Amino acid sequence: MSPVRIVIVGAGFAGYQAARTLSRTLRGAADIVLINPNDYFLYLPLLPEVAAGVLEPRRVSVSLTGTLPHVRLVLGEVHGVDLDARKISWRDPDGRSGEMDYDRLVLSVGSVSKLLPIPGVAEHAHGFRGMPEALYLRDHMTRQIEMSGTASDPREREARRTFVVVGAGYTGTEVAAHGVLFTDSLARKNTSLRDAPRPRWMLLDIAPRVLPELDKKLSRTADRVLRKRGVEVRTGTTVKEATSEGVLLDDGEFVDTRSLIWCVGVRPDPLVEQLGLPTERGRLRVDQYLAVPGYPDVLACGDAAAVPDLTRPGQFTPMTAQHAQRQGKIAGHNMLASLGRGTAKPYKHHDLGFTVDLGGVQAAADPLHIPLAGPVAAAVTRGYHLMAMPGNRVRVAADWLLDAVLPRQGVQLGVIPPWAVPLDTESPEVAQTARARPGGG
Ligand SMILES: Cc1cc2nc3c(=O)[nH]c(=O)nc-3n(C[C@H](O)[C@H](O)[C@H](O)COP(=O)(O)OP(=O)(O)OC[C@H]3O[C@@H](n4cnc5c(N)ncnc54)[C@H](O)[C@@H]3O)c2cc1C
Repeated sequence: MSPVRIVIVGAGFAGYQAARTLSRTLRGAADIVLINPNDYFLYLPLLPEVAAGVLEPRRVSVSLTGTLPHVRLVLGEVHGVDLDARKISWRDPDGRSGEMDYDRLVLSVGSVSKLLPIPGVAEHAHGFRGMPEALYLRDHMTRQIEMSGTASDPREREARRTFVVVGAGYTGTEVAAHGVLFTDSLARKNTSLRDAPRPRWMLLDIAPRVLPELDKKLSRTADRVLRKRGVEVRTGTTVKEATSEGVLLDDGEFVDTRSLIWCVGVRPDPLVEQLGLPTERGRLRVDQYLAVPGYPDVLACGDAAAVPDLTRPGQFTPMTAQHAQRQGKIAGHNMLASLGRGTAKPYKHHDLGFTVDLGGVQAAADPLHIPLAGPVAAAVTRGYHLMAMPGNRVRVAADWLLDAVLPRQGVQLGVIPPWAVPLDTESPEVAQTARARPGGG
């Protein structure tokens, strides 16, 4: 008899932990298959540090095959799930299709950038949800500063030194906080910009404060740090239109810029919608054991799943790494229970607070709901990330040490063109190829 096959779709916070929990207990007693477009687990909370040149990209990319023994990795993107026939199909990086039966399934496909129907945004903005976008942004910022130095038209010089971030949640706040430090360091080293004003950064949000979903004390800390660095924080403001020359704000101001960074939030991966099952704001509804109603052999967790929050009856757990990681462990545990190993547990987790890395020696954090700011918060934030990462800790710490003593490297490799990272994509984790590009060859 062939061993039970457990297929996990998506190797993010939830899928990685599910695979790890299963692998540690089953040790080859089941066929554990992990399907993911990349061969690494991406530690998303440190992605702003990649864009700002603090961390090298591979530091935040933990090898799946290197850290998950007894797990079979299939490189690919799942595009079809037949829950009645217990079959999934995927496309591999060469565009070939594959198909596989399963006995148990974990759906942990995460989320993609949220779009708003604002003219020009899909064409001119870039999101911040995956490695290709982070590498694109790092190069783009470097290039804009360099081109600002050589532009002869004063308006173009200023536009290239202006960066607009939309969305002041933790992603947008961190991108702006790190970005301004990065472009300042690039501009300082550029002889052509010696007499020019500092690069201009704007952080916009329709909400009345930055970090609107977090505690007000964290908002105040982040707001203070950003303004002190010269970031123009514009709350109650959004973009009305984007063009190749800049953005029109809803207060009527037109800002000349070549950089519109879209961080307005995320929506569940479109694969969820394809299933045709009940959803909650696009997230797949599951019960407290993470099981999909009507399909006891299928569990879902992380951003893609609407998991009842037993600590706040009537609500669902927020889309955070903290929940996704713990839900992944419970999914693994409950899969084991379905195979006769232990008993299923409901998912229940009290939020432990949040950390927002603001770069330099600044952060805003409330571990166990104790509000912290400044270097203490920065130390707690970095310590937390090191503990939470499933690998590469020494490499990450080494990069932080190097960044503390050496200037940032101001080079752009230019390997990710803008069309490879469109805002409207179902796959922010992979750069689009010329083949997928409209009219591409
Ligand atoms: C820049 C940034 C910073 C963040 N910082 C924090 C933070 O500080 N703290 C915090 O708690 N949260 C943070 N978050 C949110 C957190 O990262 C998410 O809540 C978390 O990643 C969700 O985990 P997940 O496993 O559901 O999805 P993900 O981690 O996104 O993983 C989903 C995986 O599924 C794969 N996948 C998608 N579609 C398919 C498919 N069709 N077939 C196969 N595989 C597929 C993806 O490639 C990916 O590997 C941040 C998010 C971003 C973008």
